[in-house]
Amino acid sequence: MPRSLVLPFAVLLAAAASFVPAQTPAPQPTPDHHERKADDVFTVEPLGGNVYALYGRGGNVGFYVGPDAVTVIDSQFKELAPGIVAEIKKVTDKPIKFLVNTHHHGDHVGGNELFRQFAMIVAHDNVRTRMLASPETIKKEYPARLEKAKAAGQQEMVKFLQEQLEWAAKVKVEEIPAPILTFDSELRIHPGGDETIQIWHLPPAHTDGDSVVYFEKAKVLHMGDDYFNRLIPFIDVSSGGSARGYAAALDKVLARVPADAKVIPGHGKVSDVAGLKAFRQYFADLLDAAAKAKAAGKSKDDFVKTVDLPAYHDFDGYKDRFPDNAAAAYDESR
Ligand SMILES: [Zn+2]
Repeated sequence: MPRSLVLPFAVLLAAAASFVPAQTPAPQPTPDHHERKADDVFTVEPLGGNVYALYGRGGNVGFYVGPDAVTVIDSQFKELAPGIVAEIKKVTDKPIKFLVNTHHHGDHVGGNELFRQFAMIVAHDNVRTRMLASPETIKKEYPARLEKAKAAGQQEMVKFLQEQLEWAAKVKVEEIPAPILTFDSELRIHPGGDETIQIWHLPPAHTDGDSVVYFEKAKVLHMGDDYFNRLIPFIDVSSGGSARGYAAALDKVLARVPADAKVIPGHGKVSDVAGLKAFRQYFADLLDAAAKAKAAGKSKDDFVKTVDLPAYHDFDGYKDRFPDNAAAAYDESR
């Protein structure tokens, strides 16, 4: 089993907390990938209208095959990028011209280094800002984490943090494969044929640079990490993420997409609008529990320790990520 598939979640959180290149450990919430060989991590699922979902390791990829060119959503990890390109080549010989990054996390932008050689990389302004700032962020935040990890004897974590600090010390900002075309609120790509690709920046939810991508004709929506399908999400509060923001972002999306749209989540299997609504309900339940606890005078610690939402026990990450979700919801409730 590849080392990156068995890392503790703490390492994955660290990996997700900033743009991290190269051998980033993979968030790996989909258990069925565990038994696959390194050269067999990919599954391609056609969704109609020339749009495809591609599962590998890290955030789910989407791609659209137009008459002249291919548009790709997210690039997973550096070491996976050649495989992603190879999978796309099995579907079409059209060149890859655009890559959209849904946010700055390492499991969604790690392959940018390869893609930038032939594709225009597009994302929200904050994705570029956060990627370019990542060496400074790592230098500032990781030494304390490293000491903590050493004290706790977390070998994998220590190794990961040391690698990141080494990278941050030597990387030149101009080497970071950040998006070169950025936008503030919305952007459309007209990739040829009769498809229009809409990119919507949403209220801060997973991070403050989240975008979702909607293929108008195909009626396929790529949610990035604004949607974890049957997984407890990661709310990256240190990158501007917010539980209330998740609810607001999901409401915006649900108001704009037709009921029969297919939905690619950032993590988990391809889903539909009903699945997206169920994920919205998770935030309604979480925020409601937090508001009630606060109104009853419960402390944050007490709330985080005692809150229980049985409807989500079978979601991957209920043990690991749910307490952090609860803490965020408590902090944000009025
Ligand atoms: Zn993410």
